[in-house]
Amino acid sequence: MADNKEKAEKKSRVPMPEQDPKIRARNFLEVPTGYTVKMAQEEAERCLQCKKPGCVTGCPVGVDIPGFIDLIAQGDMSGAIRNLWTKNALPAVCGRVCPQEIQCEGKCIVGKKDAPVAIGNLERFCADYEREHGTGELPPKQPPTGKKVAVVGSGPSGLTVAGDLITKGHDVTILEAFHKPGGVLVYGIPEFRLPKAIVANEVNFLSRLGVKVECNAVVGRTVSLDELFREGYDAIYVGVGAGLPKFMNLPGENLVGILSANEYLTRANLMKAYKYPEVDTPIPIGKNVVVLGAGNVAMDSARTAMRLGAESVKIVYRRSRDEMPARGAEIHHAQEEGIELFLLTNPTRYIGNEKGRLTGMECLRMELGEPDDSGRRRPVAVKGSEFQIECDLCIVAVGSGANPLLTSETPDMKLNKWGYIITDNQAGKTTKKGVWAGGDIVTGAATVILAMGAGRQAADSIHNYLTLGW
Ligand SMILES: Cc1cc2nc3c(=O)[nH]c(=O)nc-3n(C[C@H](O)[C@H](O)[C@H](O)COP(=O)(O)OP(=O)(O)OC[C@H]3O[C@@H](n4cnc5c(N)ncnc54)[C@H](O)[C@@H]3O)c2cc1C
Ligand code: SF4
Repeated sequence: MADNKEKAEKKSRVPMPEQDPKIRARNFLEVPTGYTVKMAQEEAERCLQCKKPGCVTGCPVGVDIPGFIDLIAQGDMSGAIRNLWTKNALPAVCGRVCPQEIQCEGKCIVGKKDAPVAIGNLERFCADYEREHGTGELPPKQPPTGKKVAVVGSGPSGLTVAGDLITKGHDVTILEAFHKPGGVLVYGIPEFRLPKAIVANEVNFLSRLGVKVECNAVVGRTVSLDELFREGYDAIYVGVGAGLPKFMNLPGENLVGILSANEYLTRANLMKAYKYPEVDTPIPIGKNVVVLGAGNVAMDSARTAMRLGAESVKIVYRRSRDEMPARGAEIHHAQEEGIELFLLTNPTRYIGNEKGRLTGMECLRMELGEPDDSGRRRPVAVKGSEFQIECDLCIVAVGSGANPLLTSETPDMKLNKWGYIITDNQAGKTTKKGVWAGGDIVTGAATVILAMGAGRQAADSIHNYLTLGW
């Protein structure tokens, strides 16, 4: 321990190698290129192997962080990934997109004096190492139970449920509305942050375990939950996400050139605009782009617009830098790529030309007042501070709501006033017998790891229901 402390104090965090900002701002290749074995071991040695590790308390699924890091330090990469898998089914994804700075790394003791141990980078390293060098050996499966489970939606929560239940011996089929599985991991998060091949590899792993994936299956439209039960399913998990775009209801919102981040990113991702100019996707290419909002979705939209050829991209947000909800790394990367932050700025109306096309936006300057219900200081308009921003494309990334497609067709499943499914929080049981739910459709838009955590708890509960009857 004393040795470890000394080691950690001497070494600073191993930086993640990245593409040069000037080059990457115009391509869709992944920005961080990943640790080498030497870098990963050097970083792993910074871990103090705490007896009461703060990092684990900060991880929503309780990954044994000192355990897997110690295995990396010893060079046992196969042991490290197997350790990770016991708590986290998608480490290649989480290592790339989890908000580590407010979770595990935010609680790491090393972070009190220096940069915290790069837990996310190490998690990503393990998963990538296994993909490139592993044997591909599948985990053991329990004998078949003869029970059938339908998982509606193939986002991180659905994939987690499917993976857990197939290894417990159940027959699992995922029903996905889109033509590709992966949920937001595929149609939301861009290629330069989470390559499609990484997600495809995780889905392929589940297929090899025996999970069936049916795409273009819009449950609630092509088939109802009751029909699924009649087809022979014994239990159903609903993980349909919260992808209904919200707008700001500003004057001029119907002008050509204003669209939701959801539509913009889905076109870019699922219709392969990220392969532009190789693939000629119908997506509006803005010259001067404004993105409204400051979460991960806003950063992804802004950085995609830049890569698709915009001359200028501005993020307009009514609070300050400290309140921006996006991951710190994404804000940093966006700024490095030339994206401007218009903070303490609130849009009030869109401006168009005689052809009905967007040409600009009127905004007001804001200042921070007293804290509101969320604990954040409320932005207050500065009188007479109106100014205009020129733009021909505006991407609205101010949040999303529950998609009513399935829930409106299932009247015996209770919803809260915002349209999210009500569950008993622990196990994810809905008010409809034999149906569980989890992820964004229960919590509202949240994070990958929380959706996965909900999936894991629901899978345990479904397994008990199928095998023990409760
Ligand atoms: C652009 C973007 C960037 C993000 N970045 C991050 C990040 O960096 N870090 C992070 O932790 N989180 C991030 N998030 C949030 C995170 O992706 C979500 O919290 C997470 O994906 C929710 O998982 P889920 O399984 O509940 O739903 P989803 O991932 O939304 O998956 C739901 C799936 O259900 C399918 N579906 C919907 N209705 C039906 C139906 N009726 N029948 C069949 N299938 C249906 C959908 O097509 C979709 O594939 C981001 C979100 C977005 C949009
Ligand atoms: S808190 Fe930091 S130093 Fe301690 S075990 Fe976790 S990662 Fe290692």
